Amino acid sequence: MTLQELPKVGPKTVEYLKKLGINTMEDLVTYYPYRYEFMKISNLNNVSNGEKVILNGVIESNVQITYFKKRMNRLNFRFQTQNRLLYVTIFNRHFLKPHLVLGKEITVIGKLDVKHNQIVASDILLTPLEKEETLGIYHTTDGIKTRQLKTFIDEALKQNLVLDDYIPASIRAHYGFIDKQEAIYELHHPTHKNKLKQALLRTKYEELFVYMLKMNVLKAHKHHEKGIARSFDDKAIQKFIDNLPFSLTKDQLHAIGVIQQDLEKPYVMNRLLQGDVGSGKTVVSMVSMYINYLSGYQSALMAPTEILALQHYENIKDFMKDESVRVALLTGSMKKSEKQKIYQALEDGTIDIIVGTHALISDGVTMKNLGLVITDEQHRFGVGQRSKLKEKGQSPDILYMSATPIPRTYALTIYGDMDVSSIHTMPQGRLPVLTCIKKKSEMKDVLTMVYEELKKGHQAYVVAPLIEDGEGSNLENVEVLEKNFNKAFGKVFRIASLHGKMKDEEKERIMNDFKDNKIQILISTTVIEVGVDVKNATMMVIFDAYRFGLSQLHQLRGRVGRNQEQSYCILISDLEVERLNVLTKTTDGFKVSEEDFKLRGSGDLFGLRQSGDLTFKVANIKQDFNILLRAKEDSSDYLKSDDFKQYADTHIHSLVDSIYHLD
Ligand code: ADP
Ligand code: MG
Repeated sequence: MTLQELPKVGPKTVEYLKKLGINTMEDLVTYYPYRYEFMKISNLNNVSNGEKVILNGVIESNVQITYFKKRMNRLNFRFQTQNRLLYVTIFNRHFLKPHLVLGKEITVIGKLDVKHNQIVASDILLTPLEKEETLGIYHTTDGIKTRQLKTFIDEALKQNLVLDDYIPASIRAHYGFIDKQEAIYELHHPTHKNKLKQALLRTKYEELFVYMLKMNVLKAHKHHEKGIARSFDDKAIQKFIDNLPFSLTKDQLHAIGVIQQDLEKPYVMNRLLQGDVGSGKTVVSMVSMYINYLSGYQSALMAPTEILALQHYENIKDFMKDESVRVALLTGSMKKSEKQKIYQALEDGTIDIIVGTHALISDGVTMKNLGLVITDEQHRFGVGQRSKLKEKGQSPDILYMSATPIPRTYALTIYGDMDVSSIHTMPQGRLPVLTCIKKKSEMKDVLTMVYEELKKGHQAYVVAPLIEDGEGSNLENVEVLEKNFNKAFGKVFRIASLHGKMKDEEKERIMNDFKDNKIQILISTTVIEVGVDVKNATMMVIFDAYRFGLSQLHQLRGRVGRNQEQSYCILISDLEVERLNVLTKTTDGFKVSEEDFKLRGSGDLFGLRQSGDLTFKVANIKQDFNILLRAKEDSSDYLKSDDFKQYADTHIHSLVDSIYHLD
């Protein structure tokens, strides 16, 4: 059965459901509440003035509706509850009027005003609550009301879909987990606190078990996969390092050392290199590519955007200028004839290092002897994209780079299938970015601080959460900010904006103008988050900073502080100041992510949502870390047991498929 066959679901609703990630009936029944609210009917004798109440009762009068101001309205009626007569007022629910008929039993939720014998209601439930009830709260989107969503889910539940249970029977029995169908029903319609707990536990466990099983399969696979055993001239590598315009940090040298060992071994390298923005990962990748070149193989470096690919290309060319390494760029916006030339050269082997975007994985690309694959900002790519690049070679070595570093204990579990190298230290001479939080009312201060930097000939980034005025939203947007900054600075400085709705060429042009200091203030959405390197920029202003995750803000902040001068980051927010304060106290990305770990769900933290690697419906890697550890152990035992083969056969479509296509 498809979604569209459900009652009251038309093509439009199907589109809205898609936005929520719901594409199939299975998605719908597993679209769980993101939190639960425990409701208990109040005892009027125990509530005092101004307290919240939840009351069941009967409507004792006709409903009166009053319209006022432009679009405001108020409903009033008398309400008989617990042997008292109260007056209920609720604002802007005119659409409820037809349902609120004399004599109907309802639940009123609101605040008690003892003096006026009145309840100002925040909500009215047309189906009265049980004495105690736990209500699931769902994320929804414009176009679908929570009530509709719940109806769709209920309709889907009625179909009694039987979903595969990925927890093996032996483990299910061992923990006494409840049945999967039962758990799903309980998650949508909690009947009892304890049962809900059990349902959550088994669902979390299932997600984490499947995840760890994949990890363990990959890990077992890893140590057997034959790769390229290289030999090369150590002295040449040392010389290359000595010739770099700076001396490498201890962590950079260490990472290069391990990668060198990996490349010598006859097994495929599968390594994650993590470190803050600006910690110098690119140089490490460059030395790796040089080693690969010395041993006679081609390297490919894939970046998520054209801007970034171009930047890498220019850097690498610059660093390699004394060598006979042939470096080329391949991006989607290049002319067809240019692309053809590159394709040819890659096939002939006349290119040693190819830097590019997704264009690298297009079908036209054939590599003569690809030996090393590097993906920058690895989480920006889907699993499929990464493995496609790998398939351009014969068991090439893989290096992933991530600028969202996470503490080692977590990394080892979460990236269990990879080896992890971390760069903790920043290159010498960098001053930590000074970060402060300002209120919206302190805009004058902010502008003064921006002006101080511009006066020195430096440049500034300004970031806002929205592109244009969102209806009814009081969040700052790029359009309005561009106007306002023009008013303030337009006579002296050039201001431009950049956002995701622009064409790639336009974005690139503006980015290049900013690099060349033809633009002094760049106003944008978070499109600049990824890797851009403009050394002369020393000021980062982020509006409505509370809208972003700590790790994301930290990434944005990493755009500045790239030269010897003092750089600044101003977070503008009236809300969540305490959370944001973490950033004023540390510039260590590992610490920031640890905090983020405590405060938010894992998806946001890793920025991994797009990739599909780490999307859990109910599990949260930090909060449920103990379940994860349990699942890790269980899955590795299970993998060795006789049952595994049959399990793999049963779940061949979903699980094993994804296992063998994951990298
Ligand atoms: P990442 O990729 O980790 O964000 P990059 O490799 O782009 O960081 O490095 C940021 C900047 O610092 C680059 O301009 C790079 O040339 C420079 N850099 C890298 N390592 C060092 C070092 N050891 N000393 C001084 N500058 C360095
Ligand atoms: Mg980088």
